[in-house]
Amino acid sequence: MEFKDFGGQFVAGKILDAVKEIETAYNFYKNDQLFLIEYHNLLKTYVGRPSLLYYAKNMTEDLGGAKIYLKREDLNHTGSHKLNNVIGQALLAKKMGKKKLIAETGAGQHGVATATVAALFNMECEIYMGKVDCEKQALNVYKMELLGAKVVQVTNGTQSLKEAVDAALVAWANHLDDTYYLIGSVVGPHPFPTMVRDFQKVIGQEIKQQINEVEGRNPDMVIACVGGGSNAMGAFYEFVNDKDVMLVGVEASGKGLDTNEHAATLTKGQIGVIHGMKTKVLINERGEIAETHSISSGLDYPGVGPEHAFLESIARVKYVSAADNEALEAFTYLSRVEGIIPALESAHALAEGIKQAKRLSKDKIIVINLSGRGDKDIDYISKYVKVK
Ligand SMILES: *Cc1c(COP(=O)(O)O)cnc(C)c1O
Repeated sequence: MEFKDFGGQFVAGKILDAVKEIETAYNFYKNDQLFLIEYHNLLKTYVGRPSLLYYAKNMTEDLGGAKIYLKREDLNHTGSHKLNNVIGQALLAKKMGKKKLIAETGAGQHGVATATVAALFNMECEIYMGKVDCEKQALNVYKMELLGAKVVQVTNGTQSLKEAVDAALVAWANHLDDTYYLIGSVVGPHPFPTMVRDFQKVIGQEIKQQINEVEGRNPDMVIACVGGGSNAMGAFYEFVNDKDVMLVGVEASGKGLDTNEHAATLTKGQIGVIHGMKTKVLINERGEIAETHSISSGLDYPGVGPEHAFLESIARVKYVSAADNEALEAFTYLSRVEGIIPALESAHALAEGIKQAKRLSKDKIIVINLSGRGDKDIDYISKYVKVK
């Protein structure tokens, strides 16, 4: 497998053929200079890269320890790191001669990013979303439709992300010739985990260059939140061989690691197969894939990218967790202290960053990956958090 004991292609039949077709195409285009030029040009002119590396002076002084820098993925077009990947895969789909993009979405962020690029590339777009999620995220459903995508409401089972994935796979299997399935994180069968990491690794490459420009050296620590794990792999990958840079992934411990309401897959999961890959998975008492909980829907996933399971197994990355209430606290803290409203997912990384900054001395440097902006979370938070 690609990542020692983790990864693989646990799919069969027509889907396996389709996955192999993508693998062959990606193996060619990842070394194709014209493809890479086009991809990087879009990152620059459409996504808005490079994103800023911001020295959080107020936060640093307030906490009194290590110097904190924020990697501002929240400033990308559509408000998160997701477009880095979606642009890359949609470009690949176009090169493969596909006319239509399909994707599943939980809260709608990946759906909106996919619909955005479908509009840009003039491709058809179909987004599968659980009915319950459609009701919770009506604004994102409207956005996708505004962008020209068709949103398919999935009404079986729990009517959320897991069923949306299954429905998208069936739809894909029926239209393999002209349709590309665009996966939103470093998950799924090979080549998706590797390919999505390659499209996100620009984050870490920029961090390395930017921090060396201002500080003349690498950071001591890079911290990122982990749902499927794409923003974290993107931030970490460039530093994996720099052994003096500590890498810290932060999962969601929801209402607590001792409850059943969390999404801390690496901390509490076991080795298993989910969505075509061998990785760590959260399993319930009945031996089924567990239902997860996090205040941030982007971290609410019972699996994790196989490369993270590998990096954990060789102890190269340390995985910790932050609870709902810690994320909420970090969310309001950053808003107040720096005037930056983070995504609730990113607030998990911030919560860990705050702890580490207090612990480390002033000559240390921490980079926190701010994976997205908080606009999407305001409506929800405003119902729960009193601001005076
Ligand atoms: C989707 C999302 C995540 C979680 O996905 P990863 O693949 O783990 O990065 C994190 N932050 C934001 C802002 C997101 O939109």
